[in-house]
Amino acid sequence: MIYGRCAACKNQRRRCPPDCIFFPYFPPNDSQRFAFVHRIYGGSNVGKKLQQLPHYVREEAANNLYLEAKCRIQDPVYGCVGIISKLYQQIHDTQIELAKIQTQIAFHKLQNPQFQAEKSNFNVESNLNSLPPQSNNSMGQFQWPSQATNWFN
Ligand SMILES: [Zn+2]
Repeated sequence: MIYGRCAACKNQRRRCPPDCIFFPYFPPNDSQRFAFVHRIYGGSNVGKKLQQLPHYVREEAANNLYLEAKCRIQDPVYGCVGIISKLYQQIHDTQIELAKIQTQIAFHKLQNPQFQAEKSNFNVESNLNSLPPQSNNSMGQFQWPSQATNWFN
């Protein structure tokens, strides 16, 4: 059991009421968690946002606010979008590498007569078709979830 003021009330140097909105999501033993969201969003804005949400999504919202604030502090320009963009680039690069390797395997099977029986099982063209579409913008295929609510309006 954790006693004392929550990290938010400690940070704001105020009494932590028994029904404190922050207490379940910003426990006293993790002061950095609140410090990050306070720095990016402002502590009172975070409290208002949590109040507006149903109880069952508050923990998830607090976790995401924390992660997004942490990313924004580490990368002030791109925030978490920078991480998403890097991961999309890795997927794209890996798909290209996979298609190249599959094409090489197909080529070597063709060169080696002992694999003649399997020749009909592959198609070089299908490997080339599995290459991802070229895009100058690595975020080109990125879609925000359509059901996501914009909590920050
Ligand atoms: Zn509190």
